[in-house]
Amino acid sequence: MYLFKNISLISMCDGADIKSNMEANMEPNMEANMDVLVQDGLIAEIGQAIKAEGAEIIEGKGYYLMPSLFDAHAHLNSSEMCNLFIANGITSIRHLSGGDKAMSYAKAIETGCVIGPSVYASGPIYDGSDALDKKSAYRYIDSIESAEKAVIDTVSAGYRWVKTYPSIKPEHLKALMAKANEMDIKVCGHMSYTVDSKMLCDWGYHCCEHSSSLPNEPQSIQYLAEAGMWFCPTQVVCETLPDYVWAGKKLEDLKYYEYVPDVIRQFWETKNQEIIRGYKKRGMKPDIHVVIERGKTFMKYSDKVMAGSDTMYPGIIAGFSLHDELEKLVELYGQTPYEVLKMATVNPARYIGLADHKGGIQVGYDADLLLLRENPLTAISNTRQIEGVMKKGQYFDRKKLDILLRSAKEEPVAFFEPLF
Ligand SMILES: [Zn+2]
Repeated sequence: MYLFKNISLISMCDGADIKSNMEANMEPNMEANMDVLVQDGLIAEIGQAIKAEGAEIIEGKGYYLMPSLFDAHAHLNSSEMCNLFIANGITSIRHLSGGDKAMSYAKAIETGCVIGPSVYASGPIYDGSDALDKKSAYRYIDSIESAEKAVIDTVSAGYRWVKTYPSIKPEHLKALMAKANEMDIKVCGHMSYTVDSKMLCDWGYHCCEHSSSLPNEPQSIQYLAEAGMWFCPTQVVCETLPDYVWAGKKLEDLKYYEYVPDVIRQFWETKNQEIIRGYKKRGMKPDIHVVIERGKTFMKYSDKVMAGSDTMYPGIIAGFSLHDELEKLVELYGQTPYEVLKMATVNPARYIGLADHKGGIQVGYDADLLLLRENPLTAISNTRQIEGVMKKGQYFDRKKLDILLRSAKEEPVAFFEPLF
């Protein structure tokens, strides 16, 4: 049992119905001098001068308590990521590539054998002919039967979403979408090279990953947004292409490179060289400003936006990169810090279908909490000023978080499953 005393509370919800708050676009409910009692992994009481015998007191005067963060686009492909996520205040991730090893690691987290974030997973990535160049994590769809089987396999393995890449042939993608609708599972991914985005939306495509996957025409983006499609910009990974391929950026210059284990560094280096060669050969030189404009257009028409990093991709470091993403959503996409906090808390909870017990601080909700030394509503970079993190009632104070960071650096990698 823990009792946070005298904190400034950023509940990310104001009243019982988060959805209607979101729709009314209400300002955050920051309340001063609040106490929050945590019992059995849940928020038990919120108020002033709460007394709870036997509770461990966390003195919060001058601190800010908000829901802990979701990374809404990640790939849990190596073990050190777990410590880095928690140490950065991220207690939930959307893992977008399935895989047996990742799933058994997620299970080990869930049962408490390993420290790490809660994992909400899509199945493996399904693609058309582009899958043939990739590793086995990508599954090839070459017929209507294989398209339908992709959905059946994803459902029967217990995944939450079907994940697709854009080279699936139109007739196969249509069959996949029909099967997904029939089996009541949502489809997310990189949209399609060949099916018009509005048609794909009409078929029920549920979430567009990456600003670079949005269509070019503003009217099409408006259509997707107004139709209720979700969107995860992952600006940080959209920038890796121009940065590494064309601007000569080096992986070793990354700010938190010390947290990348040798085995991952070698994988990144090799992959980045492959990526650089591939894009240079094809002369692909995307204009990052165009990509940002697409994302901004979507945000003009919809708040169904989630913050994600694409952790695992070369140059994207677990945990730290989500904070980079949050800053970019303010600086480049023109969102307010409050809007951006929603994208990393209540919005992913809504998307996943967990908003009745996650993504906000309310009585009865999971005690997934982030204690900050500075106010994130005045500067989004203050989400990095972490004093403590709580995941379902398990509390990591600053000392414990530093131990997690140290072991991410020093412990051997327990599992590594390259995605591509
Ligand atoms: Zn990804």
